[in-house]
Amino acid sequence: MKNLFLKIFPIFLLFSFHFAGITQSRTVRTITLGQDTVQLIIYEQKGGDHVFIHVHENETASLQAGLQALSKYGGKLVTLAHSFDGTKNRNVTFRLGKNQYVFDPNRIFTKDMSVLTGSISLVKGKGKVDGQITGIADRLAKAIWNELEGYPLIIALHNNKNMPAQYKTRWLFWKHIEPESYSITSYVRKFDQSSDSGKSCSDIYINPSINNSEFFIVTQRADFDLLYRLRYNAVLQNQNPVDDGSLSVFAAKKGIRYINAEAKHGRVSEQSAMLNLLLGQR
Ligand SMILES: [Zn+2]
Repeated sequence: MKNLFLKIFPIFLLFSFHFAGITQSRTVRTITLGQDTVQLIIYEQKGGDHVFIHVHENETASLQAGLQALSKYGGKLVTLAHSFDGTKNRNVTFRLGKNQYVFDPNRIFTKDMSVLTGSISLVKGKGKVDGQITGIADRLAKAIWNELEGYPLIIALHNNKNMPAQYKTRWLFWKHIEPESYSITSYVRKFDQSSDSGKSCSDIYINPSINNSEFFIVTQRADFDLLYRLRYNAVLQNQNPVDDGSLSVFAAKKGIRYINAEAKHGRVSEQSAMLNLLLGQR
């Protein structure tokens, strides 16, 4: 009897899933980078005209919140997988011959080859970051963009560390100050100096009761106004942002509506609430 139940139960599950009208597909596209690969894992569900993009493999809370929002509102979600040894890494590493290179996958969306060259570092070997190397990173950027193109709204999913400035010891005696990590206050002009983030920002709204790690970055004034009305932390990217190879600058140049949801690592429920706040308005 137990065996029969086990046989029937999965069929029942499949049917109930189908009857509820929820069908989610999962596709994997493999991009070759020298001797290594990056997988684009693509989830699709009927319903929304937005696409979620998750480029930093180690930012797992934002992926979890994104998948929850996909189940609720539909749309498409694209995530990158490139560590196949059980670890999760922010940066993509690839080997070509005896050389090994590394780059941040959110710094490769640019037509400016000097920006792209600056985004890639040699970590092993004696090679150079030449046209062949930038070409490899550019091919990945194009493959990702290909999945996002055509959607009127791109929602990027990110997590940050939210750590204050602190002393760190290196080489036993040498101490140095680690600056405070990235947050909404990175966009505030401090001590008479603008950071690169600050140079790309036109307006900021900070709700004093919300932590500085949870905020949206938007590229269109209407989205900033909406978030201000909802009293949620928001940064409006300006009309002439610094080209740092990031997707927010690239999407804005193409005139595509882009919203980045940032939350501290591990804060799935907070980030989920942020996505509900955003998508529940539509
Ligand atoms: Zn990120």
